[in-house]
Amino acid sequence: MKYKAFHKLSYGLYIVTTEIEGKKFGYIGNTVFQVTSEPPQLVISSHKDNFTTKKIIDSGKFAVSVLEKDVNTSLIGIFGFTTGAEMDKFENIDTTSAVTGAPIIVDSTVAWFDCKVVNTFDVGTHILITGEVVESDVVSAEEPLTYDYYREKYRMLSPKNAPTYVEREKLEQEKEPEKIAKPAVRVEDEHEIIRDENGVYICLICGFSYNPEEGDPTMGIPPGTPFEDLPEDYKCPICNAGKDYFRRSE
Ligand code: FE
Repeated sequence: MKYKAFHKLSYGLYIVTTEIEGKKFGYIGNTVFQVTSEPPQLVISSHKDNFTTKKIIDSGKFAVSVLEKDVNTSLIGIFGFTTGAEMDKFENIDTTSAVTGAPIIVDSTVAWFDCKVVNTFDVGTHILITGEVVESDVVSAEEPLTYDYYREKYRMLSPKNAPTYVEREKLEQEKEPEKIAKPAVRVEDEHEIIRDENGVYICLICGFSYNPEEGDPTMGIPPGTPFEDLPEDYKCPICNAGKDYFRRSE
């Protein structure tokens, strides 16, 4: 089996949310798809270990916020790489709501769907949850983010609980067919790390900035440590991304 074949399936990226007893929960997901038009129904695939999954089933509702192409990456860090069991992901996040009360993300959203849970299906590690769309809207003219664009631009893998998760080692062992050169701008060029001992570096995944003057006391890095001198296994304290995911701030 070739795992990279699964990367040829097209998806978007969404924040799936719910609300129960006045508390909000949510996660980043790529598996959101329309399954019927009459009535309009969506299905989401949600990991059983995902804190939000049970909250969606218990509350009987969820909202889907469709993210824009130039997404605020701190949303990816918060909703994709932290758990609602340990922190309130919504602490600094503006939301609105429609019919069900499930929170809709304001920042970086191009469209949203408000859904009532209709059914659930156990598929092993994940639960498929069908929801009837009771309200929806388009709130921005920006292009929606595709999973492929996100993966290319940020060289990011799926979080562990995503249905599309594959271990990095498995992917790295696979050879890809050679690309025929096209004149299009290659997104990889944006990743080149410029060496500058005084530079601030931004995590492309979650937006965390590493300032050499401050170091990173949470990770035991003393003030005055240039980015280049960080240990090779340094990880973003927010989303756990490695040094390769950092880019020098403009
Ligand atoms: Fe990060």
